[in-house]
Amino acid sequence: MRTSNWILTAALAGTIGAGSMSVGSMSAWAQASGSPAPAAATSAPAPAQDATQTAPAPDQSAGQSVQGQPAQAQNGAQQAIPAPPPTVAPTTMDQVVNLFIQREHGLIKVLSARTPVVETYLQNLANDPQLGPVPSEDHYFLGRLDMGETVDRKDYLKEENQSMQARLLGGFHKLYKVEYQPTGFSWMVYADRTDFDREHYDFAYIRREFLGDVRCLVFDVKPKAKSGRGRFLGRVWVEDQDFNIVRLNGTYSQAARNTFFFHMDSWRLNLIPGYWVPAFIYSEEGDFSAGVKNKLAFKAQTRIWGYDLKKGGKDDELTNIRVDSVQDNSAAAQDASPLQAEREWQQQAEDNVVERLTAAGLLAPEGDVDHILQTVVNNLEVTNNIDLPRPVRTRVLLTAPLETFSVGNTIVISRGLIDVLPDEASLAAVLSHELAHIVLGHNLGSKYAFNDRMLFSDDSTYSNLGFKHIPEEEAAADKKAVDLLKNSPYAQKLDNVGLFLKALQARTPQLSALLTTHLGNPLAEGGTVSRLTALESQGPALDNSKLDQIAALPLGGRIKINPWDDKAEMVKTAPVAITSARDKMPFEVTPFYPRLARFGTGAPAAAPTTAAANGNTGN
Ligand SMILES: [Zn+2]
Repeated sequence: MRTSNWILTAALAGTIGAGSMSVGSMSAWAQASGSPAPAAATSAPAPAQDATQTAPAPDQSAGQSVQGQPAQAQNGAQQAIPAPPPTVAPTTMDQVVNLFIQREHGLIKVLSARTPVVETYLQNLANDPQLGPVPSEDHYFLGRLDMGETVDRKDYLKEENQSMQARLLGGFHKLYKVEYQPTGFSWMVYADRTDFDREHYDFAYIRREFLGDVRCLVFDVKPKAKSGRGRFLGRVWVEDQDFNIVRLNGTYSQAARNTFFFHMDSWRLNLIPGYWVPAFIYSEEGDFSAGVKNKLAFKAQTRIWGYDLKKGGKDDELTNIRVDSVQDNSAAAQDASPLQAEREWQQQAEDNVVERLTAAGLLAPEGDVDHILQTVVNNLEVTNNIDLPRPVRTRVLLTAPLETFSVGNTIVISRGLIDVLPDEASLAAVLSHELAHIVLGHNLGSKYAFNDRMLFSDDSTYSNLGFKHIPEEEAAADKKAVDLLKNSPYAQKLDNVGLFLKALQARTPQLSALLTTHLGNPLAEGGTVSRLTALESQGPALDNSKLDQIAALPLGGRIKINPWDDKAEMVKTAPVAITSARDKMPFEVTPFYPRLARFGTGAPAAAPTTAAANGNTGN
């Protein structure tokens, strides 16, 4: 394995082996600068935490399910949701059907007051002779899902007065009148919100099947004749302990003439005792076999998170207030100097923004991924003798579009961007640009220290916050970033960064939605990569036919988000060999295939591993 002297690489991880996309989990990323120690070894960083060591299940303190009866929730986040009544073991499949109908209604009721964040990212497809169906254009939607009576969505992106339908489908809505039941890609969170019962549906037991660690009973569901338009038609997987639906797959039937219902694959996770909450929906249309004339071809991922967003902290405030009567009377207590006051002020602005973005469901709470990101930043700092008055922090933006920005000393990088980066050096490259802004003093704006500027509705976050730099600062940050990288543990791996930038350039014209940033400066503008362009010419030419050349990954292969508490973790996957250029799928969406597990079992309950991740990445 080729490594620089500064990096202790984990065995085999992080390498790109011939014919296998073994790019390493993030635990293999972010190996700290270690022995032999670099010049500034006095502040040598601790090794990155091994993501595989962390407990992936959401809050296990709430207790385990015992014999199919969910434990009563213990912590505050879960007190709001009463565990369902114990299930009497059914003896016939008819009773099972009655149970899961009942549990579906229970879920609808329990979630009716929730307004999670919903994101849909859609890629229209065109056929490429070598690569098969590839993105030809893309569309993005981010909003809040009202799980109340209508399952309605509220839009974060208010532009051009375009409806969600028009934005997602682009020109397609002119070709096909697309019928939504009730609203676009969010509709398959439930099979049928109003009439999921025996009067409207026939149920047929098919077989038993494991999904991940969870044994399921599989049923086909068909609407009865004359039960009306837009009824669910497909298959449901029902876990065999509490009889909750954990997966739905199918479409809606009896569309009107010239209308169209999408096919959907909808997955739920057992994130709270007794309930499986909707988390991922994959949709795909299109047939590229010979002779097919249907022009509608796309694939789309919908993710739902932020079920337990703190609403202004009202309840929290009353329970968490600590009266601190101890005054600091020591001699060391001094007034702030003008410079100290200025730094306090900037810190306040930074804290305000981080807190507000977290409350809006856009930033993950601080977690294990940040330790890995901070290790990479630290590697850059240590080897460049950077000593800042305040430490650099990192946070994960929960959304898919590829973007980074920094506010004060906090560097933010999007989930989508971490997903597609092929290796640690590429991660270091995108982080180095933001570190350069910090080092160059570009982030000293402090208007967000005024708290009134944080008082806006969540869905207007993007119009109230923004961290874009002027072109001169962008150019200066890029130049500084290259200097930092060339004097870092990643200096010998900048060929990989060049390759990533080439792959990005190759897909930039087709992925304008993925490259449209909402808070920071874009990585590409006008169809051309604009970030770190000095590195783009480094390294070999992009060559799709070289199976060992992995320049960029599909979306979804690195970061998994717990939809209940928004915590970000690293995906764990096993390597699977790439057998053709079509397996690479850079920047593409793929089906979801989460490894299902019961709440509190310590298994990765919130593992939105995509099919591509299963197939392509791992260590
Ligand atoms: Zn910048």
